Amino acid sequence: MTTQDAAARLFHDLTGHAPDGIWSAPGRVNLIGEHTDYNDGFVLPFAIPHRTCAAVGIRSDDRIRVASTFADAPVEVSLDELPSLFPTTAEAQPAVAEWAAYPLGVAWALQLAGATAHGVEHGAQHGVDIAIASDVPVGAGLSSSAAIEGATASALNELWTAGLDRTALAGIGRRAENEAVGAPTGIMDQMASMLGEADAALFLDCRSLEAQTVGLSMAEAGLAILVIDTRVSHAHSTGGYRERRASCELGARIMGVPALRDVSVDDLPRAQGLMDDVTFRRVRHIVTENQRVLDTVQTLRESGARAIGDLLVASHVSMRDDFEISVAELDTAVQAALDVGALGARMTGGGFGGAAIALVEQHAAPTVTDAVTAAFTASGFTAPHIFPVTPSAGAARDA
Ligand code: ADP
Ligand code: MG
Repeated sequence: MTTQDAAARLFHDLTGHAPDGIWSAPGRVNLIGEHTDYNDGFVLPFAIPHRTCAAVGIRSDDRIRVASTFADAPVEVSLDELPSLFPTTAEAQPAVAEWAAYPLGVAWALQLAGATAHGVEHGAQHGVDIAIASDVPVGAGLSSSAAIEGATASALNELWTAGLDRTALAGIGRRAENEAVGAPTGIMDQMASMLGEADAALFLDCRSLEAQTVGLSMAEAGLAILVIDTRVSHAHSTGGYRERRASCELGARIMGVPALRDVSVDDLPRAQGLMDDVTFRRVRHIVTENQRVLDTVQTLRESGARAIGDLLVASHVSMRDDFEISVAELDTAVQAALDVGALGARMTGGGFGGAAIALVEQHAAPTVTDAVTAAFTASGFTAPHIFPVTPSAGAARDA
């Protein structure tokens, strides 16, 4: 059964009738540019073929009900209740099941934005039923969260005639994740999920939100990207991510700039003298990673994807040694892939688990897959889940 059919079936089980439409949004992989987004820096993600589908129908009352194949039971509230459920913080858990805070948070954020931008009176929106199904691995660093936000935001934007563009909808998703779920993430995931294009990466300036597509021509070049899901589950709300953000904010404060985006590689020697070693290494990761994103974009444009392998490896080393967000499984995946000839490999996503990517010759994909699997067995790790990803289109209406 396709994900779309699964969403439609769940909707029918829930309501006894067909949805008004089905919208979907993809997960994403970040090619390079890790933890740079909340430092106002540069990222280069692409959308993956795995998608979350939302089958949605307007109700005759003012209630909003969400169901997911991923959850035991639907959650139902009235539209009027949304402002009392959110915002929440890391300390105050959402008043609904955590998964439901993603779609309900999107509805809440859209309610606020729609009300201001388009004069929709509070309460004038219709209630909705939302049924969600997905084939995006959850908690693997492939942003199932942006996918559920993007699918829900796209659906409600249309059904509530909010008229927001894709960039604004990415902002809605981020607001839901930050303020309704309480996960302090940047804007990258939502932008990639909303604006992704087939066979291209999205070069995003997280300060201006200016986005450019950069062609990858993977198939043409005989290349493939493998995702190696380590099955080590990460959680954004745990301490490590927050600590890294705090270090970055401290570093920027010490350097006297609004964000680490404003520190260049040439400033690093000066920075080293001004802060403790841990803060400096966090800063050095962000500053060099921003430069690596710019270098990767230039290299892709001038020489093609085959030439970016060393930049990917340098990014991994920086995350492993300076930012210290890798884990043994990710390091093993990267090393095993490189040992058998991957052109480049790095952990991707927030870290502390999740997935790595390997840039490989198409014909070498089975060799790399076997080598990584064998290395995991030898280390006594849970078998990884390894699959190719083709850079794919962003959020869309499917039916
Ligand atoms: P990632 O985005 O890397 O997959 P996150 O922790 O950011 O991991 O988001 C995962 C969370 O998003 C899940 O724990 C769940 O609460 C929510 N979520 C994602 N996909 C779905 C889905 N299909 N149905 C319900 N909730 C989902
Ligand atoms: Mg996420």
